[in-house]
Amino acid sequence: MIPAIRGTHDILPGEVERWQRVEDVSRRLFERYGYAEVRTPVIEREELFAKGTGETTDIVQKEMYAFTDKGGERITLRPEATPSLVRAFVEHSLEQSMPVPKIYLFGPMFRYERPQKGRYRQFHQLDVEVFGISDPAIDAEVLDLAWALVTELGIANVELVVNSVGCPACRPAFSEALVKALGEDVGRLCADCQRRAATNPLRIFDCKVAQDQPLIDTLPHSTDYLCESCKAHFAAVERHLHVYGIPYRLSHRLVRGLDYYTRTTFEILAGNIGAQNAILGGGRYDGLVKQLGGPDRVGIGFAAGIERLVLAMPEEAGAHGRVPIFVASMGEAARDSGIALLRDLRRAGLEAHMEYEGRSIKSQMKRADRLKAAYALIIGDNELARGEVTVKNMRTSEQAQVPRAGILDYCRARVSGGQE
Ligand SMILES: [Zn+2]
Ligand SMILES: [Zn+2]
Repeated sequence: MIPAIRGTHDILPGEVERWQRVEDVSRRLFERYGYAEVRTPVIEREELFAKGTGETTDIVQKEMYAFTDKGGERITLRPEATPSLVRAFVEHSLEQSMPVPKIYLFGPMFRYERPQKGRYRQFHQLDVEVFGISDPAIDAEVLDLAWALVTELGIANVELVVNSVGCPACRPAFSEALVKALGEDVGRLCADCQRRAATNPLRIFDCKVAQDQPLIDTLPHSTDYLCESCKAHFAAVERHLHVYGIPYRLSHRLVRGLDYYTRTTFEILAGNIGAQNAILGGGRYDGLVKQLGGPDRVGIGFAAGIERLVLAMPEEAGAHGRVPIFVASMGEAARDSGIALLRDLRRAGLEAHMEYEGRSIKSQMKRADRLKAAYALIIGDNELARGEVTVKNMRTSEQAQVPRAGILDYCRARVSGGQE
């Protein structure tokens, strides 16, 4: 046996229904909010993420699957979706073809991290991005979409946390204030924080080391250092959140670990999946499109790990609403008639099964039980002669004779829902 690669996983029947539910619910929601799907390649030029995600981020420095291909090109398996979607937005001038460039993507991402429960090297994300709108109403709309998503998935104990990390005009003063507030104490922080203090002091807020927390809690807040326009923008985001009626909490520690965030940042936390409890995160990235060679357009979006959503969803969310029908037959002629019935049921939009190994009626009914069939349609010589089908309700064991000509209507009437 050749096992799967460490840090990857197969999504099997029994679990895949929960994945499909996440995809169905989010696809329907995204489209209601005016987003259109985009599918980009999983491989991109390495520089897209070096420039986009940020040269100094952990993702780019430690976690990328990057290699030189046979043509000598530096290639990366995408570690996140935003730079790819920005590239597609620019490369195909989506603002020309879409009245409002709102796009979403589902797909695998790749990061070389230490695998642990709920964290994989190939993991999956859903991602939405909207370009060209700086009005704070869109920030609130994106947050409303994120909130609607976790709500419709039935995820319990969720909390929305929001912050503003400012813009290139006001962030330097805040970074300076952080370094100044740390002063000599910077030497007491962990090695990562000391490095962050020198390269990107904001990221000190990402630190999870317990001993560092008391000191980090005393540091200044980004919202106290916003320039006038960032301050007004954030106040308007909050006002719009009240209009939407979404509960949220301000967290000055929410800076997100990537270079491109400006102004609004946010996460949705779920209380029921342990310590790593962010299930969705995003923010505004007003300089990124230009930085990647596009026009000067703002952007905002979020990503959610599908593995995490699936883990946080309630148990029953995986139950599919399917109602299988089983066709059982006795004898050669009845078998052919059964196959034709099987075809007709499927053409009529119903889930139908049959067993081909020609076993006894008893073993066929056992198979129907294992498939959790709602009805068994039985055809033997008698039924053939009368032009009928015997219908057995598998739950109540009641039987009825139904004319072959009316059997599709009979089944459809009883199995409605689920299939459409
Ligand atoms: Zn600012
Ligand atoms: Zn630290």
